Formats: sequence, structure tokens, C-alpha cells
Amino acid sequence: MRRNRNIKILATLGPASASRERIEALFRAGADVFRINMSHTKHDALRAMVAMVRDVEAETGRPIGILADLQGPKLRIGTFPGGPVMLETGQSFTLHLNPVEGDATRVQLPHKEILSALEAGDRLLLDDGRISLIVTEAAPDKAVTRVEIGGKLSDRKGVNVPDTQLPIPAMTEKDRADLSAAVEADVDWIALSFVQTAADVAEAKKMVMGRAGVMAKIEKPQAVARLNDILDVADGIMIARGDLGVELPLEFVPGRQKEINRAARKAGKPVVVATQMLESMIDKPAPTRAEVSDVATAVFEGADAVMLSAESAAGAWPVEAVATMNKVAEKVESEAFYRSIVEAQRAEPEPTAADAITAAAHQIAENIKVAAIVTYTASGATAIRASRERPNVPILALSPVLKTARRLAIGWGLHCVVVEEAKDLEGMVDQACRIAWREGYAKAGQRIIVICGVPLGTPGATNMLRVAMVGRMSD
Ligand code: PGA
Ligand code: MN
Repeated sequence: MRRNRNIKILATLGPASASRERIEALFRAGADVFRINMSHTKHDALRAMVAMVRDVEAETGRPIGILADLQGPKLRIGTFPGGPVMLETGQSFTLHLNPVEGDATRVQLPHKEILSALEAGDRLLLDDGRISLIVTEAAPDKAVTRVEIGGKLSDRKGVNVPDTQLPIPAMTEKDRADLSAAVEADVDWIALSFVQTAADVAEAKKMVMGRAGVMAKIEKPQAVARLNDILDVADGIMIARGDLGVELPLEFVPGRQKEINRAARKAGKPVVVATQMLESMIDKPAPTRAEVSDVATAVFEGADAVMLSAESAAGAWPVEAVATMNKVAEKVESEAFYRSIVEAQRAEPEPTAADAITAAAHQIAENIKVAAIVTYTASGATAIRASRERPNVPILALSPVLKTARRLAIGWGLHCVVVEEAKDLEGMVDQACRIAWREGYAKAGQRIIVICGVPLGTPGATNMLRVAMVGRMSD
């Protein structure tokens, strides 16, 4: 089974989709990677979801990626025993460290790190940014604020602090426990929420120890400001437009999306565009024009993947949402000007053998007619560099390591196949031709480009490129 598009689709699992049949239907409709949101998933449910995805993988014979998304330090206010309150614009409202009964003048904010870090003039955004407060008086145990934008406020609503660098790591105790459970369940990617610095990512990488890729979610202005440092450490990036659009004015988000996409493509780190892509499909079977346009923008930007959240986790039309993304991506990628737009952001190769060879493969594919680029990859690094080139033909990533194939499922243009290790160079070329043919990427008489490293089995030894002709095949 092959996809007819380069961009990949991530689908979040939840009550609307976490059954064996649904997962298979989502996969067949186009989901390449499944996301498990640890904000809403207990460890036994996590393991059950992983087992179901692996079962679909075994049945379809296609490597499927799994990403566990950690909740991160999500900040929340306390409760209002008398029910929701109304905050009027201009009034004063106080946040207390210690337990208080919330009312229209005050509520608890049980996070001492935040209260200590706040300064007069800082903003606090409540309930996904619907309510805005400006700090007028900051103390270690309370913050007096003026309501800048009022509204109705109820128990345990979320708090965002866009102006304040918080002295808190991106991982809470819950995140650490969730990370361990996810790595033990053998997921392929771990996503980190509310990253502020490269050190946050480094800390997670230390715990993961190479057993999964670590994806940094860019959802705070502090992370945007340190994007290049974060890209140096992270294995992948998520443009988490939900919280980013709370922490920044909404009109800033499209520009940041372009900026993050370009920087991630340049660094050769898979980049996922997330949140509200097909939001109206949570309860309707068809998307809006604006949503289709939003998905198309990500495709034109050459992002590695687009993501569905509630649309596939909790909506009434999860399979339709995936099918819609698939259809939009296929159509946009078939447009005459798609290539030139993606090509315009091509990053120059870095001075390494892998980059020189994958760039050469890209150029050859533009010079002569080839059906596909086939790259051997043990760690996945060479396939990621080939994907970074964004070539005009599909890339088959052949790996003897199942874990590598699963992790690469997120990468632009990569069709991953688990193979046995070939004995010698001729064996590799023959195998590449056979698999390109078998997977529907090349017909007899067509040429393919094979990239590998000789001698075989030397890590980081990509040093060979061969143009090979696919012969007559029979099964
Ligand atoms: P979330 O992250 O859905 O876990 O909040 C994505 C986002 O903020 O866009
Ligand atoms: Mn978020």
C-alpha cells in the first residue's frame, strides 16, 4: 500500500477513534502516525492503544509511527464554590497562592513559581486567552491584577503567561512518569509541551536515551525566540498553533508558522503543523473553505506533516477528517506550481557525504527520468537528509531496523520498508529494484537511484549512489 502524497498525516487517538477497527480505518484513509495525548490518557489505555496500532501494522505490513504527547506544565486556577463568576473589564482581580474560595474578586493560583516570576505589567491569559489580566502589584504569595478583557470564568481554567519566562522545566512529575511509560510501551516519538529552552529538550532526550525521537512543541514566544538552539537539540518540531495562538496575538501565528517551517526544513528536522486544521469537522462531515486552504498552506510550505487533534480524537467524523486531509494534500501536490513553491525553500546541502549524495540524487532525478530514490538507512539519518532535499520523486527508505522505519513514517516523502540486510552491493541494488517494483513505485524498464554506504553495515558511511534499471520481475 502506498500513499500518493509527500506530506504525512498525524491523527490523534481518543474516544472517537481508539478501537482496533477505527485505527485501521484511519490508517487506510491516510493516517501515517498516531498521536496519543497524555493529558487525557492513563498508562493502561496508552498500552492498549499502542497494541492496537501495532496490530494494524502487522496486518497491513506498513510501519506506522506512534507519538506520545506529554501534557507539560499546564497552569490552572482554583475553583469557584459559588459557581462561575463574571469579570468586568477594568475591575481588580487577585490571584492567591494559598487556598481561597474563588469569587468575582479573587481565585487561587496554586503555582508559586509563577507568582514569584510575575512582574507588574505582565499579562495573564485565562481560559484559552478569552480573559486577559494585567499585573498591577506582584508579591510572592499573590498578584493583584486589572481585568483588561473580562468574561465568564469557571473552575480550573488554564492560565497562559506569555510575557514571563517561567523558572520551571518543561517536564512535571506526571510528564516524567508518562515519558517512562511511553518509552516502555515502545512509542516512536515523544512530544514535549511548553518548551522554553533547548535545555528543556536536552533534559527529555537524556531520559529517552535514543529510544524515541524527541519533538519540541513550539507554543511559547520564548521558544520562538530560541528556535535555532531548540532545533539543534530536538529531533522534530511541532508548530503547536493552539497555545501559540493564545500566547501571541492570532495575527502573529501565520508568520511564525512560516518562520518555524523554514527553520526546521533548513535544519532537516521533521516539522508538524498542528491544531484546528479541520476544526469544523469535529461535528460536520465537510470542512470549511478556510480550513482546506489552511491544510493547503502547510502542503505548499513543504511541511513534513499535518495533524488532527479533536477532529480524530473526539469528533463525529474522524475517518472523514483524515480522508479530507489526504484528498486535499494529494490534489495540492498535483498542482503544476507545487514543485516550484516547495523548491523555492530548498536548503543548501551541508558539507557532509550524506548531503552531497542526497543532493546529487535530487539533481539526477531532475536531469533524467527516474521513478524513485531508494535509500538504505540504519539509524534513519540518511533518509531524513534525503527527505530534506524535497526531491521531485518519492523516496523509499529501506531499513533493517523496524524502529527506524516507524520513526521515519513522519518524514516528508518517505515510504519506509523493513528489509533484510543484503550480503553485498549487488544484492542491495537488486533488492532496491525489487522493492521499488513490489511497492508500486517503479515498473520494469524504469530507472531508480540507489543510495547506500559501502562497506555495508558501517554507520554513517553513506558514500555511494547508483542509477539502476528495474528489470522484469515476477513474484
Ligand atoms: P495541545 O498542543 O493540543 O496538546 O495543547 C497543541 C497546540 O497547542 O496547538
Ligand atoms: Mn498546546
